[in-house]
Amino acid sequence: MDQPLSTPRARMRASYLRDETEALAALIDEARLAPDAAQRVERRARELVEKVRSQQKAVAGMQSFLREYDLSSQEGVLLMCVAEALLRIPDAATADRLIRDKLSQGDWEKHVGKNRSLLVNAGTWGMMLTGKLVSLDAESADNAGTWLGRLAARAGEPVVRLALRQGMKLMAEQFVMGRTIQDALERSRSAEHAAYRHSYDMLGEAAFTAADAGRYFTAYERAIDAIAAHRMEGAATTPPVFGRPGISIKLSALHPRYEYAQRERVMAELVPRVQSLVERARRGDVGVTLDAEEADRLELSLDIFERVFASPALHGWEGFGLAVQAYQKRAPFVIEWLAELARRHGQRIMVRLVKGAYWDSEVKRAQMQGLAGYPVFTRKPNTDVSYLACARRIIEAGDAFYGQFATHNAHTVATVIERMPPGQPFEFQRLHGMGDDLYDEVTRLGYACRVYAPVGSHEDLLPYLVRRLLENGANTSFVNRIADESIPVESVVADPVAIAAANATAANPRIPLPRQLYGDRVNSAGFVFADEAASAPVLAKVAAFASQPLDVVRDAGADDARRALETASKAVIAPARDRAGILERAADLIEANGAELMALLAREAGKALPDGLGEVREAADFCRYYAMLARRHFAEPEELVGPTGETNRLMLSGRGPFVCISPWNFPLAIFVGQVSAAFAAGNAVVAKPAEQTPLIAARAVQLLHEAGVPASALALVPGPGETVGAALVADPRTAGVAFTGSTATARAINRALAARDGPIVPFIAETGGLNAMLVDSSALPEQVVSDVIASAFNSAGQRCSALRILCLQEEIAPRVIEILCGATAELRLGDPARLETDVGPVIDREALAMLEEHAAKMDREAKLLCKAPAEGVPAGSLFFAPRAYEIASLDAIDREVFGPILHVVRFAGADLEKVVDLVNAKGYGLTMGVHSRIEETVERVRVRACAGNLYVNRNMIGATVGVQPFGGEGLSGTGPKAGGPHYLFRFATERTVTVNTAAAGGNASLIASSE
Ligand SMILES: Cc1cc2nc3c(=O)[nH]c(=O)nc-3n(C[C@H](O)[C@H](O)[C@H](O)COP(=O)(O)OP(=O)(O)OC[C@H]3O[C@@H](n4cnc5c(N)ncnc54)[C@H](O)[C@@H]3O)c2cc1C
Repeated sequence: MDQPLSTPRARMRASYLRDETEALAALIDEARLAPDAAQRVERRARELVEKVRSQQKAVAGMQSFLREYDLSSQEGVLLMCVAEALLRIPDAATADRLIRDKLSQGDWEKHVGKNRSLLVNAGTWGMMLTGKLVSLDAESADNAGTWLGRLAARAGEPVVRLALRQGMKLMAEQFVMGRTIQDALERSRSAEHAAYRHSYDMLGEAAFTAADAGRYFTAYERAIDAIAAHRMEGAATTPPVFGRPGISIKLSALHPRYEYAQRERVMAELVPRVQSLVERARRGDVGVTLDAEEADRLELSLDIFERVFASPALHGWEGFGLAVQAYQKRAPFVIEWLAELARRHGQRIMVRLVKGAYWDSEVKRAQMQGLAGYPVFTRKPNTDVSYLACARRIIEAGDAFYGQFATHNAHTVATVIERMPPGQPFEFQRLHGMGDDLYDEVTRLGYACRVYAPVGSHEDLLPYLVRRLLENGANTSFVNRIADESIPVESVVADPVAIAAANATAANPRIPLPRQLYGDRVNSAGFVFADEAASAPVLAKVAAFASQPLDVVRDAGADDARRALETASKAVIAPARDRAGILERAADLIEANGAELMALLAREAGKALPDGLGEVREAADFCRYYAMLARRHFAEPEELVGPTGETNRLMLSGRGPFVCISPWNFPLAIFVGQVSAAFAAGNAVVAKPAEQTPLIAARAVQLLHEAGVPASALALVPGPGETVGAALVADPRTAGVAFTGSTATARAINRALAARDGPIVPFIAETGGLNAMLVDSSALPEQVVSDVIASAFNSAGQRCSALRILCLQEEIAPRVIEILCGATAELRLGDPARLETDVGPVIDREALAMLEEHAAKMDREAKLLCKAPAEGVPAGSLFFAPRAYEIASLDAIDREVFGPILHVVRFAGADLEKVVDLVNAKGYGLTMGVHSRIEETVERVRVRACAGNLYVNRNMIGATVGVQPFGGEGLSGTGPKAGGPHYLFRFATERTVTVNTAAAGGNASLIASSE
């Protein structure tokens, strides 16, 4: 049983997405210094900046290089792309393609001569890129443009590739302390490091597999032992651990499912691992700091920290700490909570205060998730204010904390110095390769500083390197500004409190709130499960609904269908603006009843909760998007240009009763999408849901009625396709059909419609797909696997967009398959109403039998690569374990198999186009994925692919309404795309009205306007 929440923890929980104005107002006074103190801080910061700038002129190193190629220049971005990918590409051909791709795009010439720094100077740039491998002739050395032009042209040559790899390694070395912990420890003895303490970080990002997590665990163990054996630094602190070298641990590296939804598992499995590492560290008196990662992992990390910190084995030892990100709105409450924890146990916590490294991805994710706000501040000075307020709290709680202030910002440094009472132990921290000049100065003044020292191979470094390049290249970042001589010193050291206080709005007006993302409509409301203030009430409601008895929906018959059409054909349809208002109310009602709908989706359709949430949001988005289109196109006639003396107007209106036939796999979103589109366009609707999911449809219809859709304009006729569906389609009153389902049924409907006498009516069909993802060897295997797992196995693979065929370039295939299998082994099958469940049951026995039959065939004809564990799944239930087979060629599959079976095929890099052709030849054209860092490769796929939705470097499911209009071609559907700007037109009829305004007595307006 969890403990009741302490007050700071409860306040923290309530502040996940705190309003920025409120959050800033709560901190600004705390961060503000008295005027004389503020002046001292500014003076000190100014001195530091001036010192750094004067030294910079002399040294001119990598910092200048990074500034010249910063992220506001295309070349900077291109260089970052090369840096991110080149070192990991295993084959020469793809590496050459990447180089050609990136070097041919930039305007490199313009960087020549602008900056006198040694590194930016053309010759040295060449040296940096080529190392000792290519000796440049004098002419080339003086002319970067020529040199780079030649380089780009010769990019196929091995020597250029080697040279660039070498250059990237040099860049990487700027940020890595050593390839092994021994190298790094050795380097820490060098003169340049003499003034510093160190915290070693074993490079590597989140583990995807148990094997990777095990590897990282061992690496941490070895590193702790090596650090413990290395006794160079500081015995001069009390306790000594504050002065000694330490280690930084990334929790995501130690568990393949370090995520909120797996909390129980994480607490059971990860806590003992952390405990064991920390106890080991204690034995060697090596300080341990837990790194801070994404916002949705904060609470989990605190739970883990608390459990280990409170363990008797650590009693009396003050070497365990964690990083706190000031850019998060919860940061001040985290500090409060930690202070309480420290005092409760009577020992200090080492707190590393950082601003935070994932700001851009936090903002993007919040927008995608439709959150009520951002977990982070949206203006840079607000983050600074939060940092200064948090720093003050840490300093003032000297009994609870050993403060570790990680920053490269001179103003921040000066403020900490100003606030720190004499004699209180604390340290600054910087990243290896950053802030060297600043801290050479600060340490000279007698302040302690620790260097965060990444250790690892170049390949492991890449994601870390990109974060550093982003940080160095961002024009808001201090390290970028200090190096830019064109920015006056007073601006570089300006007091963020004053700037934040002077801003007209606390929040950044250029970053709209996630729900206001789209100017013309409201984004659907979402939440993250890790935000317990938002998710706990939903989960409680889901649990309550899950135990209620289900309603029963009686099947309609053919006569009911005909009666519904009769009523619909007489329905009076409201004007477009009213229809739009009704649909917007429907969206609100769908969101308000989201928990019930998620529960129903889990029970009736086997949908896991995140998938259910996605579906609720999509349904609401459809309503709002079509409401917006109805207002835009249906409310007023469009005036057309013509000769004087007449008016011409084009008007759109409904066609008559529309029949909407929807599938069980998106029983809410597709159902509501079809119905809302037909209604928005001015039609009455008769809706026939899938036989398997009538309850969800019935609830959706109730909500639409409640929103104001008249009963006569929307009827539900659940029942079998053969009777109810057939009767609806055959009826002459049906003025159009929207259908989503199998290609075979679409053909049957098409034939039935063609067989009718009377008007020929529109038929909108969205059918299946045989969807492929192509991965070249420049892709990042971990990212590929994460997207493959989501694309192939989410919703038990029962999405028409789902990935069926993964095509891997042969050089990268072994590693991707290894991670894929490891990640598949971590999936959990189970009750879809439980948050920890990844994969629920398939829809029915028929689907299960079909999947088992296909799996049996694959067992015979292909190689089973891996299968998710299915222990604990009740015998005779509808669960089907996700699995992957390797097939010899694309010939092995030519029809859609609707479920979590992935087919993997390898291809030679030179055959990329052939693979696209083979996929096209299957006749479908729904979704396709590409993973490549090479734009030219992506473009080659794009022009060739017959696919309605092409996804590049991301997963290929979950199209967002109005953002990724969804629908295919060929065997996959007729178009227009659902959730796209052209969809409603297909449901409408067009009429023009021409009035001869000159008929009665001449052209008055022309005469009146003539000179
Ligand atoms: C020793 C050490 C350990 C670290 N460990 C971690 C860690 O565990 N987890 C982690 O996340 N980071 C960590 N970092 C990285 C750290 O977050 C960045 O280096 C730091 O944010 C840079 O801050 P600064 O004071 O040097 O720079 P500054 O340039 O003063 O500040 C940069 C900060 O402002 C933020 N910012 C930029 N634009 C905006 C905006 N519009 N709105 C709001 N905020 C904005 C940036 O995201 C960044 O956090 C660590 C850094 C050091 C030195």
